[in-house]
Amino acid sequence: MVTDYQQLRQVSEKASKEEADSIYGKLQNIVSTHDSAVGLSAIQIGIPKRVFIALIGEEWELFVNPEIVEQEADIIEGTEGCLSFPGYEVATRRSRQITVTADNLESKLVLTDFDAVVFQHELDHLNGVLFFDRGYIVKSPLTRNSLCFCGSGKKFKRCHG
Ligand SMILES: [Zn+2]
Ligand SMILES: [Zn+2]
Repeated sequence: MVTDYQQLRQVSEKASKEEADSIYGKLQNIVSTHDSAVGLSAIQIGIPKRVFIALIGEEWELFVNPEIVEQEADIIEGTEGCLSFPGYEVATRRSRQITVTADNLESKLVLTDFDAVVFQHELDHLNGVLFFDRGYIVKSPLTRNSLCFCGSGKKFKRCHG
């Protein structure tokens, strides 16, 4: 699992079908060992390709070169975690309903509430955006005087805390 802040800032590139197939298996292996997992993107396992898996309803779905094509104005507020940053929770605001496409989908898919939040979190990973950019930290394993997780060299309380 990639936990390096700078490495996760990388913007991922489009994936071919063959690349996506091989990444899919690797992502599935990892989430099968993380009970709390609801999504995982290729960049989080060190592969900067536009592929992620997400728990939609009860099923793990693959998204290859995904995009949001429509976004409702209605906002959902909640807290999110990230497998790359265990112990952190961030309060975020996301679109409550989105319409999405992906190369491996037959048709557009409408996602709402939790499913929509997970999709937006994972799509952000493909663009080098992290949940820290989408809200404020409500829980962290750091004390106020520890060095910040982002590598700035500043104390957590003066940087992201
Ligand atoms: Zn994440
Ligand atoms: Zn920081």
